[in-house]
Amino acid sequence: MLKAPRGTSDTLPPDTSKWAYIEGVMRQVSRRFNFEEIRTPTFEHLELFARTVGETTDIVEKEMYSFKDKTGRDLALRPEGTAPVARAFLEHGMASGPLPRKFFYMGPMFRYEKPQAGRYREHRQFGVEILGSASPYSDVEVIVLAMELAAELGLTGTTLHLNSIGCPSCRSGYKAKLIEYLRPKTDLLCEDCKSRLERNPLRVLDCKQEGCRSAIVGAPSMLDHLCPDCKAHWDQMTRILASQGISFEVDSALVRGLDYYTRTVFELKWPPLGAQNTLVGGGRYDGLIAELGGPPIPGVGFGMGIERMLLATDKGSKPIQAETAIDVFVIGLGTDQTVGEKAFGLVRDLRRAGLCCEFDPLQRSMKAQMRQADRMNAKFAAILGDDEVARGVVTIRSMSEGWQKSVDESSVVNVLREEVTGCGK
Ligand SMILES: [Zn+2]
Ligand SMILES: [Zn+2]
Repeated sequence: MLKAPRGTSDTLPPDTSKWAYIEGVMRQVSRRFNFEEIRTPTFEHLELFARTVGETTDIVEKEMYSFKDKTGRDLALRPEGTAPVARAFLEHGMASGPLPRKFFYMGPMFRYEKPQAGRYREHRQFGVEILGSASPYSDVEVIVLAMELAAELGLTGTTLHLNSIGCPSCRSGYKAKLIEYLRPKTDLLCEDCKSRLERNPLRVLDCKQEGCRSAIVGAPSMLDHLCPDCKAHWDQMTRILASQGISFEVDSALVRGLDYYTRTVFELKWPPLGAQNTLVGGGRYDGLIAELGGPPIPGVGFGMGIERMLLATDKGSKPIQAETAIDVFVIGLGTDQTVGEKAFGLVRDLRRAGLCCEFDPLQRSMKAQMRQADRMNAKFAAILGDDEVARGVVTIRSMSEGWQKSVDESSVVNVLREEVTGCGK
């Protein structure tokens, strides 16, 4: 039998209703912050990611889901959302329109890596980007959006981890100092870090290998090497955060895995998740648009894995309830086929009136249909038999309270609508 490809997963009902709920909350919160949705293709030219995400990052070196199409073009399933948004922004002339522009996106991202627990080759992300603002207020705005989204989903007590990785001019001096510091400790480093030490020493800072962790103890901090402009940005941003009562932890080992970041990098963690507790990762990317051949337009944003958010909400204060209950189960059973047809008409009327309604197309016995109504957590059953049709009524039965009564067929839709919306009064 055919199975789904390695590293992919199916989302089945009722979990799909949880996805719909969480995506709905993401849309609502984005709307409140006046971010507009943008949709970009799931695959792009490989070069887009090689140029922006960085040749020496794990993503491009090992994890890119790249392929040649039938005419030999190098393409890649998108590994992340920011570079495609920046590409679309430039391609559609938005760089010369009013700025800043604020976007959010949702959709699948791909990484060709060894499948392991909780890591998939296809996963879904929500992210936001502000393009055209170098102001630290924009850094704080995206951070606040992430925090409020988490809170809205019942994840209170998130912790904000913050660092600045400077700009190309102050970072090169810092990189030299870091290489100088790490060179005598090369023996401690993992193979990846040994090979990338000279090219991309910042990656050693966030390597999870034990040897690399011990090598960076006491290493110089980027924050002590910021140029005056980067320092001013950092000071203003941390001041705005403090003015809003938002606490943060400075984490000098936080660099994020992408080459295009400048200045602010941040993560939002939620401790109850344990080892894999990062919900959100983001930062500023003031050089990205220029890197793609556009004008020097700054940007800031974040990405958030939706699978991990869903996992977290199960442990939070507002676990998402799958929507499985229905309002009315209509049972139409008579000696004549017209009874079933009349019942089917009632199903249509109830659905038009906004109620979630089901019936049995197989027309099984009364007993079997009552069992079905029960299994579907129906609030009410509406029963039409020969007797009801003869009297021009419908029998409605409360599945939770057990009572039943006859209602004139002309008013049954209104009666049921009132009963359903008044439920739990
Ligand atoms: Zn700088
Ligand atoms: Zn390492």
